[in-house]
Amino acid sequence: MKVFISFDMEGVAGIVDWSQCIPPGQPYEEGRRLLLGEVNAAIDGALAAGATEIVCNDSHGAMNNLDPELLHGQATYVSGRHKPLYMMQGLEAGADVVFMVGYHGSISGESSILSHTYNPSVVSHVTLNGVRVGESGINALVALACGVPIGLITGDRQTAAEADPFLADAERVVVKESFTRFGAVNQHPEVARARIAEAARRAVERAANLRRPAIPLPATLEVHLQTADMAEVASWVRGAERTGVRTVTIGGDDPMAMFRSFVAVTYITRQSEGR
Ligand SMILES: [Zn+2]
Repeated sequence: MKVFISFDMEGVAGIVDWSQCIPPGQPYEEGRRLLLGEVNAAIDGALAAGATEIVCNDSHGAMNNLDPELLHGQATYVSGRHKPLYMMQGLEAGADVVFMVGYHGSISGESSILSHTYNPSVVSHVTLNGVRVGESGINALVALACGVPIGLITGDRQTAAEADPFLADAERVVVKESFTRFGAVNQHPEVARARIAEAARRAVERAANLRRPAIPLPATLEVHLQTADMAEVASWVRGAERTGVRTVTIGGDDPMAMFRSFVAVTYITRQSEGR
């Protein structure tokens, strides 16, 4: 039983500010400690249910936020930048179930701590098959392509709600209630970790019976950008078609190709940032 964990940071209990997510500094040291606690809780739960191999993909910022030595379960650590599959790098090698830990709400959704969709300076709204989607649903394209179910998602309540249309079978752990993008009622980290471990255990036990992500193919990913310049640059990406002043559309029946086009859009549009 192999478990693939894609972890972000903004959705961890106790994290409400960018200073806790961006090095260097004391708040970041606190943030990465809280993150490690939740990732290890997910690993512990998976191991308790019989998981034999854990791969952790660091999906936040420069993607090297943890001390590899402190990961439980002798987990493999996928870290560092310029990953072709970004938040899902490593899943292409296969797994039995995917966990999404520390996830956050989309940029265009209801208030959610530090909400964004890949790049908050560029992406203003994304829909998948006409439904607003956050990083969980976009990343689910890779799980769909690899034929692996998503068994767990953790974050605030908005994160769980946005996963509903695409990840119907996933265990959800709500670790905080956001009241703005920079304020939340957080569960105590020990409580959050215990609940994550318990949900991870259930997810591994259910893995064989979990359905694949609910994304009918052919699918359409509509990406709304902050400016027309960004949409123009985005349209240079293979598979991305300019469909509006500030919109590109990525479509097709190959979810991996769609995701790769989306990742390319997030990379290339950094060239057109700035006001
Ligand atoms: Zn992040």
